[in-house]
Amino acid sequence: MQNNLQEFISNIPKSDLHVHLDGSIRIETLIELSKRAKLPLPSYTVEGLNELVFKDQYNNLVEYLNGFALISPAMQTPENLERISYEFAKDNIAEGVSYVEVRFAPHLHINDKQNIDEVLLSVNRGLDKAKQEYNQKPEVKSKTVPEFNYGIIVCAMRYFTKGFSKFLDHVLTTHQNLNLNSIVAITSYDLVKACVQVRDKYNLPIVAFDLAGEEADNPPIHHRDAYHFAHKNFMHLTVHAGESTGPDMIFQAVTELYPERIGHGFYLFSKNEIADPEIKGKDEYIRKLVEYIADRRTTIEVCLTSNLQTIPTIKEIKNHSFSKMLKANLSTTICTDNRTISKTNVTKELMLAIQNFNLDKNSLKDLIINGFKRSFYPGSYEEKLDYIRQIRARYDFLVKQYCDVL
Ligand SMILES: [Zn+2]
Repeated sequence: MQNNLQEFISNIPKSDLHVHLDGSIRIETLIELSKRAKLPLPSYTVEGLNELVFKDQYNNLVEYLNGFALISPAMQTPENLERISYEFAKDNIAEGVSYVEVRFAPHLHINDKQNIDEVLLSVNRGLDKAKQEYNQKPEVKSKTVPEFNYGIIVCAMRYFTKGFSKFLDHVLTTHQNLNLNSIVAITSYDLVKACVQVRDKYNLPIVAFDLAGEEADNPPIHHRDAYHFAHKNFMHLTVHAGESTGPDMIFQAVTELYPERIGHGFYLFSKNEIADPEIKGKDEYIRKLVEYIADRRTTIEVCLTSNLQTIPTIKEIKNHSFSKMLKANLSTTICTDNRTISKTNVTKELMLAIQNFNLDKNSLKDLIINGFKRSFYPGSYEEKLDYIRQIRARYDFLVKQYCDVL
């Protein structure tokens, strides 16, 4: 029974709406690219890196973030970005992910060799190459299986310091007289403007804007102008919120940035994590916030393994707030966050969701379809509806094939 369920999940068309490109690099590729560019790694074998960097369990967020610092230097040329993106798409396709929205922070990759146009074009070239290869297959062309498609989400950094990237070092030096909050706000605004220009100039599927990086002490409000600009330029909006801060920061994110989706939202129900001393009736505050999110169908991008790794106090997946999200009828979708750093994939995350949260047949189908419905699909609305129809049809076909698994 278990094997059948696993097989069913790996066969159904899946989406991943929250996954970081850098955190999903193949370890073999990281080693090869680092060796070639003489970049330091604590080990040059897969086993060594698995032991020292990409662990099954992390002690804290800092340890989790260590891996990113080693990966970023290998993502500084157009060739490397294209290859990493191509392999990323291939890995998704191989486990039956039909639609992926991959996110990354372009500012971490700008240097003397590549400007923002080249960074975004390189990532798109890699993704598109894998897409074209897959969509050539006869079973895709005949619409027996849904095509593979993708969108790109650009992340502004909510915090940075010297050493994050050549470009950000330059930004810090240029604005020496400003405080970091002002620099972050200007940089975020500059990024969204540039991304809209690149999107329109080359017709790239840059679909949304996001904030990444440490949440604590780096509130969403500094990015209000950037989000407003994105909104006015028909860019979709998502935001990391409630991954390491409490309900009041989720509140600020939704009431200042108006996102359509929230990354993580793990602490949505945690009244003890409310930092603002002005908030008195905490239960009522959370109740209203949850209602607001439920009623607007703001979708929570849930990343179970990643949260378990960065928030060790969860201890077991069962304790994850996903159970409360389901109970409150929130719009949710299961995502990976980082395929390599979290050592996971969409199939594994869905298995965890099914096994730990009593998902029945109907709720699993709703969860899967919701990932496509709440996507920022880059085609027209009509094309999106047609795509969802194909996904549903394929899903229903597979349910019949595996009728006894759930
Ligand atoms: Zn994330």
